[in-house]
Amino acid sequence: MKLILLGTGGYHPNNVRHTACLMLPELGLIFDAGTSFFRVPERLQTDEVQIVLSHAHLDHICGLTFFLPTLIKGDVSSATIYSDDKTLNAVGQHLFSDEIFPILPDYNFETIPESLEVAQGGRLTHFVQEHPGGSLGFRVDWPDRSFAYLTDTHCTGTASEFVRGVDLLIHESNFPDGYEEFAKKTGHSTPTPVANMAKEAGVGRLILTHLDPTLEGNDPLNLSTICEIFPHTEVATDLMEIEF
Ligand SMILES: [Zn+2]
Ligand SMILES: [Zn+2]
Repeated sequence: MKLILLGTGGYHPNNVRHTACLMLPELGLIFDAGTSFFRVPERLQTDEVQIVLSHAHLDHICGLTFFLPTLIKGDVSSATIYSDDKTLNAVGQHLFSDEIFPILPDYNFETIPESLEVAQGGRLTHFVQEHPGGSLGFRVDWPDRSFAYLTDTHCTGTASEFVRGVDLLIHESNFPDGYEEFAKKTGHSTPTPVANMAKEAGVGRLILTHLDPTLEGNDPLNLSTICEIFPHTEVATDLMEIEF
């Protein structure tokens, strides 16, 4: 099963990272719709898509406006957005208001159920996270594999049971170690608590994403120190393809 990290930055895009969106093209399953959502149409492999939103902060929803031509041309027959009600309301009332983006693309809006059926026999469940305004973390279990996507959350290990035993954990680490106070204040994570949770929860592989776009250097999270805690850790890059 292939998962593509279309955008791996937080807050705003920079020269190497667009903001959050990840896609499983064979399944028509997409998580978040940040600026990297413009990369979705050329990768479509299904007639229907499910778009699951963690929350309504701009770096996770602005790309919903980029899908209008695809929907008008009929390149997909249906596109359904799933999230909690407050996120759906924010998208419907604010992003697609007359003043901001006056044409409402032909999306279906659905409150995310406790368990959502996805392609190939998968079941998507969610977890309410600590973040200003709230956010949802996600887990998908198929009969033979699993993954979880937790972004925009302050990791304290409370998601440990939720992610237990997943083959692949994609988790935000907006800030490097040393920024714990600021991470707590803004509802984001630093890598050490995430690696500790991955180890404790027995996940197979950890990929850190949603990096602060102002971080500099090619190893902003100091990966070798994180790998001392949990060796199977990588830092996401835009367009990284993951087979799991
Ligand atoms: Zn974000
Ligand atoms: Zn956020």
